[in-house]
Amino acid sequence: MSRRANNFIDINTLVRKNVLNMKPYSSARDEFKGEAEVYLDANENPYPSPYNRYPDPLQWRVKEKLAEIKGVQPEQIFLGNGSDEPIDLIIRAFCEPNQDSILITEPTYGMYSVCAEVNAVNVQQVLLTHDFDIDLDAFPKTFDATTKVIYLCSPNNPTGNLLSRDKIVEVLKRFYGIVVIDEAYIDFTKGKSFVNELDKYPNLVVLQTFSKAWGLAGLRLGMAFASPEIIAVLNKIKYPYNVNIRTQDLALEALDNVARKESWVEEIIEEREEMVKALKKLPIVDKVYPSDANFVLVKVKDAHQTYRELMDQKIIVRDRSKVTLCYNCIRITIGTPEENKRLLQALKEL
Ligand SMILES: *Cc1c(COP(=O)(O)O)cnc(C)c1O
Repeated sequence: MSRRANNFIDINTLVRKNVLNMKPYSSARDEFKGEAEVYLDANENPYPSPYNRYPDPLQWRVKEKLAEIKGVQPEQIFLGNGSDEPIDLIIRAFCEPNQDSILITEPTYGMYSVCAEVNAVNVQQVLLTHDFDIDLDAFPKTFDATTKVIYLCSPNNPTGNLLSRDKIVEVLKRFYGIVVIDEAYIDFTKGKSFVNELDKYPNLVVLQTFSKAWGLAGLRLGMAFASPEIIAVLNKIKYPYNVNIRTQDLALEALDNVARKESWVEEIIEEREEMVKALKKLPIVDKVYPSDANFVLVKVKDAHQTYRELMDQKIIVRDRSKVTLCYNCIRITIGTPEENKRLLQALKEL
């Protein structure tokens, strides 16, 4: 892998030509941004209800607060309907259908390849090593001139581990294309986020989400952090009002209470460590993989059977045994102390 000659990347050379040349939709809220007294520009219903007005299309209040917390500029943030939205938009912005490719490491989160396939974009796969880390030697054999985006997930789903930082940096330095690092589980590890490396790597996109540590999966709010140039491309092609008023308000509330998130995270990590210890003692468990996330991947004697028997006890885990390199593995989310006890008791009695 060595397509990048120097540290300079002109993002516009990577953007699809039609996206580069198109004129974006301009909403009423884009055209008038100040404070006024009478709004007759957006065909809204004038009678007051909490939601009669369109939301801020660029969610500036949320971004300003988030920027402070994350140590970035508001212009380096994109907010979407879950992380799934930026995962999809990045492919649509940078990959020509029936021509370009994304590269993913397997096993990993399923949405990268689903979004690529919907957009008729080819998926190139590189296996992770047996300890689920990046195999740098395998990259050059797989990627080619059609590869426009690399998706890395760290901590990785479903394996739970961080990818090694040095290898991620190698990919960032050597690849002339977009490198996405999905950090959905970054709150559950002591490993450092890449969110404060944006100024060093113009091709970097970091994804985070309100769905895991923040406890807001039902709201659907995902974050992408990148250079203002990349963020501008995503803003250009997103739906104008992609994050509703209620979600923006509730996100602001959550961001006012970082301590609550942190105490959940602390509790979940403690429970995870207990869970790992207890699982290792069980006869049906062959291996507990180290976790930097809010779940553990566990190799058992017969994953399908364990899954069925837990289900009979009304306990649902994720059977990952058909996933590459995850033969006979189940993925267990860390629950409350009571839920975890119940799971362990059930596993003991199998
Ligand atoms: C859960 C998860 C997400 C979150 O997706 P949302 O659309 O934000 O809910 C993103 N990436 C990975 C790897 C995940 O496991």
